[in-house]
Amino acid sequence: MNRKFDIDLSGKVVTITGAGGVICGGIAEELACSGAKIALLDLNLEAGDKIAGKIVALGGTAKAYKCNVLEKESIIACHEEILKDFGKTDILINGAGGNNPKATTDNEFCSYEDMDIKDFFALDESGVKFVFDLNFLGTFLPTQVFAKDMIGRKGCSILNISSMNAFTPLTKIPAYSAAKAGISNFTMWLAVHFAKVGIRVNAIAPGFFVTNQNRELLFDKSGNPTPRTNKILNATPMGRFGEVSEIMGATKLLISEDEASFITGVVLAIDGGFNAYSGV
Ligand code: NAD
Repeated sequence: MNRKFDIDLSGKVVTITGAGGVICGGIAEELACSGAKIALLDLNLEAGDKIAGKIVALGGTAKAYKCNVLEKESIIACHEEILKDFGKTDILINGAGGNNPKATTDNEFCSYEDMDIKDFFALDESGVKFVFDLNFLGTFLPTQVFAKDMIGRKGCSILNISSMNAFTPLTKIPAYSAAKAGISNFTMWLAVHFAKVGIRVNAIAPGFFVTNQNRELLFDKSGNPTPRTNKILNATPMGRFGEVSEIMGATKLLISEDEASFITGVVLAIDGGFNAYSGV
């Protein structure tokens, strides 16, 4: 990891949802190196444990908790355990999220031809609800549980994870796009709501990073780039995917009470220029 820009998180408790995943696992490792005690929440305990083990092996402080961000009872149970293990959470990173094939159309554009494919009309309501809930409620509920402890305490903040599709929706994934647009909007809502009680709320909007939730959309079974990958790279002026290490500077900046003390309600793109490019 590139540690040229560092912040001091000694004594801080950072709770991260989706922390067993590629992006948030990387964030967990990075923030542990800055001195934070890391609570890793994930539906997949084994994945969280793996990252926690790596952090502890390097001399850091971390523990994984099994948590379903869609079930308030599960979040409350983790909250109680974290209070006992580490104390009150200073920084919450809402990272659990992703798309699902059940909420993905086969076609980019509706056509006049009759096609026997999963088009917009065939999308399963339960799949759409699942993806919308995972990304929106999965941020809303942990914020309800953990932000209460932050009120009136110095240096507390929340970081949400939005996406490129919040600015302009991507084809095929209407629920994920709408939910991430909801996250950007909710980030601003929370920033205003908590402004007078000392909690800053911001979001990062990663461009394209190869992780578990999008690998199948980006590469075929033989590992060759799909046509969608070629489109993405052509639409990214820097012409490549992002590296997880490239998310760390923005993350550390936005959660830093010293460097970002007057920054709240922003959604910061980390995208190699994707959002700025019209394609022409
Ligand atoms: P990932 O699949 O590697 O990680 C997601 C993690 O969330 C997994 O460990 C998974 O077990 C966990 N999770 C799923 N459902 C959960 C639930 N109900 N409760 C608790 N944990 C749950 O994906 P990633 O790409 O690292 O995604 C991290 C975040 O970044 C997501 O919010 C994603 O939408 C967002 N994002 C990713 C990209 C990208 O290019 N990969 C781009 C923009 C935004």
